[in-house]
Amino acid sequence: MKIGVYPGTFDPTTNGHLDIITRSSQMVDELIVGVLHNSKKQPLFSVEERIEMLRTTTAHLPNVKIKAFSGLLIDFVNQNNAFLIIRGLRAITDFEFELQMAQTNYNLDSNIETVFLATNVQYSFLSSSVVKEVAQFQGHVENFVPPIVAEKLWEKFKK
Ligand code: ADP
Repeated sequence: MKIGVYPGTFDPTTNGHLDIITRSSQMVDELIVGVLHNSKKQPLFSVEERIEMLRTTTAHLPNVKIKAFSGLLIDFVNQNNAFLIIRGLRAITDFEFELQMAQTNYNLDSNIETVFLATNVQYSFLSSSVVKEVAQFQGHVENFVPPIVAEKLWEKFKK
């Protein structure tokens, strides 16, 4: 069985993430979305909230599983018997960091490959940070995130 891992912070899930999940889930038998739990970062949403948003918005994709992880990505990939890391590339600004991570991971374990999916051009500007920035000032995020995420953002920032 071919298992792939799509790791990220997903704080929160955007339509860009969902596009990568949908497309990459067709490339493997099982896709595990790894939600990074990093105690040094201060995400807006807890890991439980981020997982719940991903579970709800990917419920129609039967071969997609959502799991939290911390520590080394390569360890998480091995624990799940996966062979592939999937990342999205939006623009050249993503490239340097992504290349460095892919080469580091290959050095740590050459049995695991990283593949990049080019963003769908309609989402190339979209990031979780931009969405949070807009939501913070009560701007419309309905074109950027699924309705359940827009609702959660509204709840976070309404006070
Ligand atoms: P990070 O993993 O850097 O904390 P995210 O959780 O925001 O970042 O993103 C996880 C993955 O999804 C990364 O590979 C990122 O490049 C990709 N990604 C984020 N936004 C988009 C988008 N709009 N289109 C395509 N890929 C995206």
